[in-house]
Amino acid sequence: MKITIIGAGPGGYETAVEAAKKGIEVTLVSAGPVGGTCLNEGCIPTKALLRSAELCDELAAASEFGVNAGECSLDFLKAAARKDEVVAQLRSGVEFLLNKLITLLKGKASLLGGKSVRVALDEGGEVTVDSDYIIVATGSVSASLPIPGSDLSGVITSKEMLSLEQLPKSVCVIGAGVIGLEMASMLNSFGCSVSVLEYCPDILPRFDTDLAKRLKQSLSKRGIKIETSAQVTAIESSPEGLVTKYIRKDAEFSVTASKVLMAVGRRPNLASLDFEAAGIGTTPRGVVVDRYMQTSVPGIYAIGDITGGYMLAHVATFQGRRALNHILAGCPAEGPVDNIRMDVVPAAVFTSPEAACVGLTEDECKVGGIPVKIHKSFFRASGKAVAMGETDGFCKIVSSEADGRILGCHLFGPHASDIIQEAAALITRGATVSDLRDTIHAHPTLTEVLLSAANS
Ligand code: NAD
Repeated sequence: MKITIIGAGPGGYETAVEAAKKGIEVTLVSAGPVGGTCLNEGCIPTKALLRSAELCDELAAASEFGVNAGECSLDFLKAAARKDEVVAQLRSGVEFLLNKLITLLKGKASLLGGKSVRVALDEGGEVTVDSDYIIVATGSVSASLPIPGSDLSGVITSKEMLSLEQLPKSVCVIGAGVIGLEMASMLNSFGCSVSVLEYCPDILPRFDTDLAKRLKQSLSKRGIKIETSAQVTAIESSPEGLVTKYIRKDAEFSVTASKVLMAVGRRPNLASLDFEAAGIGTTPRGVVVDRYMQTSVPGIYAIGDITGGYMLAHVATFQGRRALNHILAGCPAEGPVDNIRMDVVPAAVFTSPEAACVGLTEDECKVGGIPVKIHKSFFRASGKAVAMGETDGFCKIVSSEADGRILGCHLFGPHASDIIQEAAALITRGATVSDLRDTIHAHPTLTEVLLSAANS
């Protein structure tokens, strides 16, 4: 069997490796560097810089722990060089693995009809690849606001922010979603003056409202200025820097900063291929797929950001596995092809402290008419958190009143991004609060916040 995969982000390359391990002949076409947005200009470089930011915070607080760290100063160029090394190391690891298992073609793919793909190779020339199935994983691009001044130099996206060689003195972030808040938290730790403007009444509009409120308080306490219900109207250039104008409660305000970070979401990269000519159905929200990730053309699948929905690396990877499982099962028209719960998606925001969630929020249950119980615990009651000196935060578990099944978990606090995975496993397997209560948790660990919430 032959599969051609277009796009080598975490959706495309992980699926390529998985398929090759199953004995399938795979051709992976990549127009950019392997690893896609996540590895080259998203998750990984962000995490590398966040580690430098975390060290700034830790050293600033070191004396409280009896450690004399001397004067803390940041060599941003060195932090940026380390970030580039991290990316290069991981990218070469992925390339090595791919070259061992599959045919990797670097170039731009186009759909020729049927299961044929033409690739204009970066090194020159073209090849045509015929296969039994095609999987499209061409990702997303940053969205921008259609306002005057959004094209001014100094108005940047997260991609440019991650490749700056000099730390800006001040940054105005438009959008208090995941990217906006992670960048705001990092820049604040580096000593930048940061303002955040959010259109909605709350930050992180899709997260639990208690969590969003606590995170906002915590970031504000650190000196990040956050304005919600702010409608950005224009960006202008001035001798003092870029002036971002916004309306809040019918009054006009402005923020002046050396850079403006546009973090108002991402949109599927629908310009990556001629979907219409290939007969593949799309909407402005992305390529339309069924539960098997199959597009309107049988045998052509789409996975990851190009399909809209959750734009998360791990979702792309598991959507790829679903597509592959469907192919391996002989493309049935109905019935399950695996046990992956596509509705149970853990998500994390790498601010300081972190936020993470999985499953339904209390508000979603209310809207859906599902009676629930709320179980809460606080990091200040966790021995490990107190010992670490990181007591800010809480854990909230949402369970079904009818049968005790855990429906959602929302965390704000140290290592929330790691702890959430236990809740994801419990929800995926339909566990109840009583199952959680009966699970021995190692002491002293931060995961005990889940147990404490279950026991509350
Ligand atoms: P997002 O959708 O998470 O947030 C965008 C924010 O911008 C929202 O809060 C929205 O209300 C706000 N906004 C929209 N229009 C606005 C306007 N006119 N003025 C002010 N605010 C406005 O998008 P993002 O943060 O850009 O991230 C893009 C995607 O990448 C998301 O799907 C995100 O989940 C993903 N991502 C995930 C991670 C992670 O998992 N840690 C990290 C980075 C990005």
